Amino acid sequence: MSDHPFKSFVEESMGLEGKPPKPTGGTVMTSPKTPTPIKPTTQATPKAFVSLKSTVLACTKCPLHETNTNYVFGEGNPQADIMFIGEGPGRDEDLSGRPFVGRAGQLLTRIISAMKLSREDVYIANVVKCRPPNNRVPLPNEVSSCKPYLEQQIEIISPKVLVLLGATAATHILNEKKVAITKIRGAWMTYTLASGKTVKIMPTFHPAALLRNSNLKKDVWEDMKTVLQEIGNPSS
Ligand code: SF4
Repeated sequence: MSDHPFKSFVEESMGLEGKPPKPTGGTVMTSPKTPTPIKPTTQATPKAFVSLKSTVLACTKCPLHETNTNYVFGEGNPQADIMFIGEGPGRDEDLSGRPFVGRAGQLLTRIISAMKLSREDVYIANVVKCRPPNNRVPLPNEVSSCKPYLEQQIEIISPKVLVLLGATAATHILNEKKVAITKIRGAWMTYTLASGKTVKIMPTFHPAALLRNSNLKKDVWEDMKTVLQEIGNPSS
């Protein structure tokens, strides 16, 4: 059994070696900086976050509330440096009320562990808070109804980096009609908060895509190494 979480995520299937993050080139815009520790997980949840969660748990703004078992608000550290955003709850998430707990979610947990972080260190949410029937892609009216909740979560958390998992998250956070995740993954983009603060965006593959094609793991790991660098590389 591997003694390095990176091995369990990538090396076993890709034949790569676990190494601490190194600088990467291309479109990545980074500058030398002093390593900073990730925000502690013991801080109190902001009142605004508690209030927002109460609002979401009673939401009837789109038809998805009619078929959900549970709302999946999101979970993690509300002061996280890294926020992961996926598409929407699947069956396991709908049943549990927690994001990313099915097979793809377990892989995301392994990715986070490989970053030497825990789910409690980061925040995990989705574009829509209720499961689309049969796990279909959320419809435009569902996204337009639900996205303001996600935007408020991003405002409150004010992370350093948003990791967009897959094309649906990337399309809606980037306000595009449709994006090809294969073309934009790994390239830094930006998201501007109401305060004017800029948050970096790292688009990457959804863990479900890695379950279908393990060759994508190395790309995701490269993206996560870049993210770790951006937040001060706590894994090195
Ligand atoms: S998906 Fe979002 S907007 Fe639609 S009912 Fe659920 S919480 Fe409300």
